[in-house]
Amino acid sequence: MRPNEDTYRHKGLRRKLVDTIRSKGITDEKVLEAIGNIPRHFFLDSAFDEKAYEDRAFPIGEGQTISQPYTVAYQTQLLEVKNFDKVLEIGTGSAYQATVLATVGAQVYTIERQKKLFDHNKVFAFLKKFHTIKFFYGDGFEGLPTYAPFDKVIITAAAPHVPEKLIQQLKPGGMMVIPLGAGEVQQMKRITKLENDVLKEEVFDNFSFVPMKEGKKG
Ligand code: SAH
Repeated sequence: MRPNEDTYRHKGLRRKLVDTIRSKGITDEKVLEAIGNIPRHFFLDSAFDEKAYEDRAFPIGEGQTISQPYTVAYQTQLLEVKNFDKVLEIGTGSAYQATVLATVGAQVYTIERQKKLFDHNKVFAFLKKFHTIKFFYGDGFEGLPTYAPFDKVIITAAAPHVPEKLIQQLKPGGMMVIPLGAGEVQQMKRITKLENDVLKEEVFDNFSFVPMKEGKKG
């Protein structure tokens, strides 16, 4: 069962979570405000009601996880979202990251390769409030050529390599935030597509994501 009540207690726990991720180095006020406003416990089974506000990843079924709030904030901050930016997210999972992106002003296109997780989000009532998120069932390595180009791409699973098609689907001046690496630990990278398709790469901290896998899972 999913909870759907947001109490003062939950709000208090969220304020503490915001303090925690601020103390870990997140400075973007829009991102912190989004984390402070979105009831993360709605995205988890009621067994995690209070735990939802610990700065940790948790299981969401199908061997997948909801990312740690710090990681969600970190990637969102690196993406430097502007109002109405078209953002492609790979790995919808719980859809928590997607709601954070929408809250900071993005028009979100999010892809999930696992049918069960995709179907679950179709009946997740809280998401109906988010008119600027579009959900797709598919393989993130392919991106969404029909909706391209995008201002930003965010990958929320460990990418073994930089997906070429996603670079193609970026606008000139666009940015991709990607945890890159095939092993246990990945390096967070930000790749900017400069004019005449030159790529600028910046390297940030290490993280540990579930793997980005090829193809759909029915
Ligand atoms: N953004 C999510 C994090 C989910 S974990 C959240 O906020 O909860 C990563 C997700 O990426 C998993 O649900 C996994 O099934 C999905 N995934 C892995 N490889 C993928 C691919 N090639 N295309 C789309 N989704 C993928």
